Amino acid sequence: MARTFGEHAFDVGEQRAADIRERFEAWARHILIGLPAPGREAPADDGAGARRDLPGLRRAFRDHRAAESSYVTTSIGEFREATWAFINGLRRTLSAEQAADRRINHRIRRLEGAVRSGDPTRIRSEAQDTVTLLTEYLAERGTRHQEQIQAMASRLEALREELDSVRAQAAIDAVTGLYNRASFDEQIEREVDLATLFGKRGCLIMVDIDHFKWVNDNHGHPTGDLVLRETASTLTRCFKRKDDFLARYGGEEFAVVLRDLNIATAKTVAERAMGTIRLLEIGREGLPEPIRITVSMGIARLRPGETAAAWIERADRALYQAKNGGRDRIEVDPIDLEEK
Ligand code: GH3
Ligand code: MG
Ligand code: MG
Repeated sequence: MARTFGEHAFDVGEQRAADIRERFEAWARHILIGLPAPGREAPADDGAGARRDLPGLRRAFRDHRAAESSYVTTSIGEFREATWAFINGLRRTLSAEQAADRRINHRIRRLEGAVRSGDPTRIRSEAQDTVTLLTEYLAERGTRHQEQIQAMASRLEALREELDSVRAQAAIDAVTGLYNRASFDEQIEREVDLATLFGKRGCLIMVDIDHFKWVNDNHGHPTGDLVLRETASTLTRCFKRKDDFLARYGGEEFAVVLRDLNIATAKTVAERAMGTIRLLEIGREGLPEPIRITVSMGIARLRPGETAAAWIERADRALYQAKNGGRDRIEVDPIDLEEK
């Protein structure tokens, strides 16, 4: 719950969505694997009598909901103020136009009087004044409208950017910077829809780090996180076509969607990625020697009429087979092999 809560975080005033997400992620890890609760030094005892700071978690939820609630109230207040400013602006414009109307009417009446009098000097001078007034008025009105439109446009633009960044933040995994599970779930559905519409079937690769628990157990979670980040950035470099979609699927599992690609090509790219990961030397201060890892992969190509869930299940099953077969290898779902 804490993790899901964090994944859907948004900026709450001064608190950035990323920080909120990190805090709730830390709570999730405290509850799941016994890391220290946020703001605590000592790790919780993860033995038989594991102690979890549940009252602290409850406080964290409650405080955050309170902060969100007051932020939303304030935001609505700000929105109302912006609306008022807009209404007042309109009012000012209208009254400026009314004043201008009155001045113009007055000028026209004087011009009429001059025409009636038949005095050419008066006519010329009144006509001159009327033209000047109208020119000034039109110029001023042009600027005023221009400024109003500009102000409204920049306000809209700011709102749009804000929305975009909130949307982008909600889609990203905090540890690796890859798309998160929620984004993957959306993307895979989109992929199936595209295939239905255009018949372009892609491949799904499930990637899981081998013996990752060993890294955590022997070097600690921060090093585990470093391994996750290095793996993520290597995968990003290896799957770099514009349409490649890469996400963190779960703990140490990644998912790659390769649009409109056959099994043979997908397997070649996957093998290359696997080779690059094998050569990685992941080091950080305090480590006696760099860590080396391998990954296992399962590949399945979307079948005509297949659902996203079935597609994922086949790729997962292939991954499971790669694990069973001894890890550090790629397995293709047998159904796709038949097709080939
Ligand atoms: P296998 O080769 O069968 O995949 O073994 P494994 O050890 O990689 O897999 P297992 O599922 O046993 O362990 C995965 C571990 O990943 C357990 C979990 O504590 C850890 N983990 C999950 N999320 C994170 C994370 O965000 N950071 C770190 N450091 N560890 C994580
Ligand atoms: Mg693993
Ligand atoms: Mg796993």
